[in-house]
Amino acid sequence: MPNRRNLFFFYKETEELREKVEPLKELASKYDFHVVDDPKDASIIASIGGDGSFLQAVRKTGFREDCLYVGISTGELGFYCDFHIDNLPEMVENILSEGIEVRRYPTIEVNVNDESSFFCLNECTIRSSIIKTLVMNVHVEDFHFETFRGDGLIVSTPTGSTAYSKSVSGAVVDPKLACMQVSEIASLNNNHYRTLGSPFLLSDERTLSLEVVQDGNDYPIIGIDNEALSIQHAKKLTIRIPDKRIKTVKLKDNSFWHKVQRSFL
Ligand code: NAP
Ligand code: MN
Repeated sequence: MPNRRNLFFFYKETEELREKVEPLKELASKYDFHVVDDPKDASIIASIGGDGSFLQAVRKTGFREDCLYVGISTGELGFYCDFHIDNLPEMVENILSEGIEVRRYPTIEVNVNDESSFFCLNECTIRSSIIKTLVMNVHVEDFHFETFRGDGLIVSTPTGSTAYSKSVSGAVVDPKLACMQVSEIASLNNNHYRTLGSPFLLSDERTLSLEVVQDGNDYPIIGIDNEALSIQHAKKLTIRIPDKRIKTVKLKDNSFWHKVQRSFL
């Protein structure tokens, strides 16, 4: 177990960011944190950038449960970032006054073709990669629930509910509920093809499986958060909610619902 005060900064190595991160590193050392060069040695991983960078920080460091992830924004304060890089005094004050708590965000685990598994913090998407509909059999556990025909499906975590899922009219879900939300992207609905037509939530005791019908559109694009999977021939996705939670800092008076209000209202 790495030292509790070992801190790794995750950011895109650009001139501009490097300049901004330098004072952060100095500040960290001043307050007795050890800045480490390898995320494996860290117990705190600070992502610098936006929500997209935070997703990458978590993915590239392996969705660690023994780590505290901290989002430091360089633009607007998003959903995974509680701090702003231009407001260092606030950051220090909050750490010193113990004005921070830890929150735990549920993830989803996606298994492809009964072989490789991946974690997601926002969502997994499966979409047609050609100008032709994609057909999938949707199972809830062993039960054949519906046959989907359309552009694709989004399976979102609660924290992902404010991202892609929301763009297709998904509900915003409290991250205190460990669940997954399944939403359609342009389903075909007529006398031949019928899907539920609204998003639905599955509990953490359910397993969802999506089987791609092999009818000539057999190479869908699979997205895990902000990365495309390189597996081309995905025939079956099995999705469940693992015990794995991502720990991040929470400032007082900055709950998920404060963020929702700040971003959308
Ligand atoms: P991007 O295209 O730059 O992201 C789109 C926007 O989504 C950015 O403003 C990003 O914030 C924001 N975002 C990311 N996670 C969010 C969350 N949990 N709640 C609210 N907003 C969130 O790509 P990216 O920054 O790498 O983010 C990847 C995410 O984009 C994917 O996981 C997916 O959810 C989303 N996406 C949305 C659509 C759509 O709405 N049609 C299509 C594709 C992907 P930052 O600017 O702070 O990074
Ligand atoms: Mn982004």
